[in-house]
Amino acid sequence: MGSIQVSRGTRDILPEEVIYWQHVEATARELLHQAAYRELRTPIFEQTNLFERGIGEATDVVGKEMYTFKDRGDRSITLRPEGTAGAVRAYIEHKLYAQGGVQRLWYIGPMFRYERPQAGRQRQFHQIGVESLGSTDPRADAEVIAIASQLLQALGVPQWTLSLNSLGTAADRQQYRDALVNYLNQYKTDLDPDSQDRLQRNPLRILDSKDPKTKEIAQTAPNILDYLGEDSKQHFDRVQQLLTDLDIAYQLNPCLVRGLDYYTHTAFEFELDGLGNQATVCGGGRYDRLVAELGGPETPAVGWAIGMERLILLLQDAQITLNQSLDFYCVARGAAAEAQALLICQNLRKQGFSVEMDLSGSAFGKQLKRADRSGAVACLILGETEACDRTVQLKWLTSGEQESLSQNDLNTQADQLQTRMVAARSKLST
Ligand code: ATP
Ligand code: MG
Repeated sequence: MGSIQVSRGTRDILPEEVIYWQHVEATARELLHQAAYRELRTPIFEQTNLFERGIGEATDVVGKEMYTFKDRGDRSITLRPEGTAGAVRAYIEHKLYAQGGVQRLWYIGPMFRYERPQAGRQRQFHQIGVESLGSTDPRADAEVIAIASQLLQALGVPQWTLSLNSLGTAADRQQYRDALVNYLNQYKTDLDPDSQDRLQRNPLRILDSKDPKTKEIAQTAPNILDYLGEDSKQHFDRVQQLLTDLDIAYQLNPCLVRGLDYYTHTAFEFELDGLGNQATVCGGGRYDRLVAELGGPETPAVGWAIGMERLILLLQDAQITLNQSLDFYCVARGAAAEAQALLICQNLRKQGFSVEMDLSGSAFGKQLKRADRSGAVACLILGETEACDRTVQLKWLTSGEQESLSQNDLNTQADQLQTRMVAARSKLST
């Protein structure tokens, strides 16, 4: 019988790659903390109708991509395909609006969509997202965009494009929708089958088609910006002005409509260079109707979600190298030495060092080779002599220098050792 493999569209993240994930998570965590965002953790599954009502039944996500099933109590359950609906449900359920002011929330975690798997497109993928609930101020739009751009910058992403559009109010959009359908109807038979299908259901999404012929037709379609009412226009102008003040480059893209139904006004996407078809790493926008639609009080909001797989693919491709740092590798041979080594390792860890202990009991030569390969800055060596004398050989793998220390000094002189460790490590990286 063959071995069982990981499910299609999912993957294991092995330790070499986890370093990247931890780096992205830590950077995001710190930056979002600086911007006064608080983390929210919601369940991975929700009642199906949350997404049907929240995201919209005509969308691809709800229509084709959800993992929906009946649980043993005959309830319809869906694995969350995105984070906003759950965050808004929690916001309403726990009356976070009653705290007044703006609620700035962020989340991280797996999302699930039944899609055709490709590089940067999976069935289980991960997002980091922010939601800023409670303000119509264009500064809220600018703030979330600024944070996304700061995060990309902090991670060392070399180049990206920020595309911006406005979808106006629901009323603006209805007018635009009519004009667009009129226009597209003239070319109905030239559209790709998917787009023909969307003509009644979700015509704005046609603008976003990847089919070359449809794209060409979309090029000369009516421009949504011409259909914005006065307030929508003002809001959008202000957002653009604020981004310019923040020195954040953007380009207007009237074809940017986003996949989810709940967007109003500002919509935006960050695209990374060098990711092929799966170039959009972050998508977001304003959603002033969603909270009320899900049964909460009228609450304007704006947010985004970053796809972590795509971001990490790029960081790896850009050969941004990260190493899991190890301070000591400890080798020992002989029963007494091995027992002492265990204590020494544990004591060093308590002092804040990272330490790997060789458990093989094999010849010193073999253990020392493993020490070299471990990436540790220094190696601790204990043989019979050291066990008798209560000493340890400390070998700096960066320079090859070796010295003898009493085991007691290892415990009492942690500060000095830490200083030397930092010095040796900096030599390593230059
Ligand atoms: P796409 O057009 O690529 O399908 P989307 O508009 O469906 O993206 P959003 O719902 O806006 O994506 O999600 C925000 C981000 O999450 C995307 O920009 C992308 O980086 C990431 N993402 C979405 N779906 C997937 C997936 N199946 N696999 C990996 N990442 C994804
Ligand atoms: Mg999609």
